[in-house]
Amino acid sequence: MKIPAAWRDISHLHNLCYNKNMKLLLHTCCAPCSIQCVDALLAENIAPHLFWYNPNIHPYTEYRSRGNSLYALAAAKNLPLTVEDEYGLRSFIKGVSAVEENGDSPGGKKRCGYCYRLRLKKTARVAMERGFDAFSTTLLISPYQNHDLLREIGEDLAVFYGIEFLYRDFRPRFREGRNQARGAGYYMQKYCGCIFSEEERYLQEGKR
Ligand code: SF4
Repeated sequence: MKIPAAWRDISHLHNLCYNKNMKLLLHTCCAPCSIQCVDALLAENIAPHLFWYNPNIHPYTEYRSRGNSLYALAAAKNLPLTVEDEYGLRSFIKGVSAVEENGDSPGGKKRCGYCYRLRLKKTARVAMERGFDAFSTTLLISPYQNHDLLREIGEDLAVFYGIEFLYRDFRPRFREGRNQARGAGYYMQKYCGCIFSEEERYLQEGKR
């Protein structure tokens, strides 16, 4: 896959010096969820290093729109960003099919559990390999995600990789983040990310 020049040319951001408390690798799912997480962390004197790894986002135009928006946010906030550019349509569907073989559980827990673990595992591993103090995720801001499961998986990976999972309940900031993102002109997605959630969006609209 060809990576747009804008995504590659971020080396200058990595060289910025942050005199802050903690070296945090923050998995970011999109700009609207990231804005308020970043602000909350900065208020704690933690300048996160943003990390893009979301092979669950489909189709490709959606993946690219969210990625480009996140890049714009990193530049606007002057924060470093590492991009793992993997559009994983086939591998993701294969992985989800495997975990759902015995039937999905209410709320899509198996599918979402697989999805959370996939993204957080990569984040934790990169954080450990590159000498970060901790890792976390902007998924913790969404009231639509399974918050407890995210925390459970994050803490499990923290033990496995021997690196802290920085847990924060960002959910009270969700609405403000959406408004801020809309005001700033960032891309606003209409479904969670995978092709299954895109289908559910239309099924729910149909019911209404
Ligand atoms: S609904 Fe969202 S969290 Fe669940 S599998 Fe799809 S993209 Fe991942």
